[in-house]
Amino acid sequence: MIRFGPAGNSQSFYNEGFKHTKQAAAWLKERGLNAFEYSFGRGVRLKEETGRDIAAEFDASGIAMSVHAPYYINFCTDDPEKREASINFLLQAMRAGTYLNAKRTVFHPGSCSKMDRETAKGYAMEAFKEALERIKAEGLMGLPCPETMGKINQFGTLDEVLELCTLREDLVPTIDFGHLDARGIGAIKGRAEYEAILDAIENKLGRDRLRMMHVHFSKIEHTKAGEKRHVTFADEGFTPDFLPLAELVAERDLTPVIICESAGTQAEDALAMKEMYESFR
Ligand SMILES: [Zn+2]
Repeated sequence: MIRFGPAGNSQSFYNEGFKHTKQAAAWLKERGLNAFEYSFGRGVRLKEETGRDIAAEFDASGIAMSVHAPYYINFCTDDPEKREASINFLLQAMRAGTYLNAKRTVFHPGSCSKMDRETAKGYAMEAFKEALERIKAEGLMGLPCPETMGKINQFGTLDEVLELCTLREDLVPTIDFGHLDARGIGAIKGRAEYEAILDAIENKLGRDRLRMMHVHFSKIEHTKAGEKRHVTFADEGFTPDFLPLAELVAERDLTPVIICESAGTQAEDALAMKEMYESFR
């Protein structure tokens, strides 16, 4: 089943007087959305009781929950302490994710500003492998989904992320199309570029995993270094355009979870994406 929803709460949610994320479940359902991503980007601070409260509302409304692990994870390091800390940040997010009944945990694999990409890949593969072993040993739910990144000096090209997903047969990537566009300095012009991305995922991981991929989508302003800031669908002159992707998702019968990361209008823009997708069904 394809799903659409926001990363965090839209400004309109707060403007309407709502304060607590557990209230977002009914709010999203009423608008026809069925996914939500809860951010631990700035740290994992969620009490078990609060998490379970939120999960009960979301489960009752049929909204699929994913979480975003802390932004400061960096697997691309030769420093054993930093690597250990990074593995722990991912595990913390996954533990708190279990309170939320989150099925997926998105994470940024790391930075390669201080080393060449091949070396970075070696470290990232090694650290992620170790993280996977500990996740298994602890029996944590919430599939870890490495994300494609928007800045050129970050680890997380499409190929790099797909490579991480080869470590286990059930891993799916988080394909952030805005990030891929930004790191390619406006690389996604239309249908042909989206097709190439989808083909690359299918060729590397197979059709089942392509169908189930996690998606982040927003328009992103970029500089020559890649990502600068997230904008909204109402901001003119930014890329990429979701419409050709909506058509391909429908044509290829894909069932991703599509999370919108627009700045402030993420629920509204998620709904706009859902409508574009439905226009091709
Ligand atoms: Zn992210």
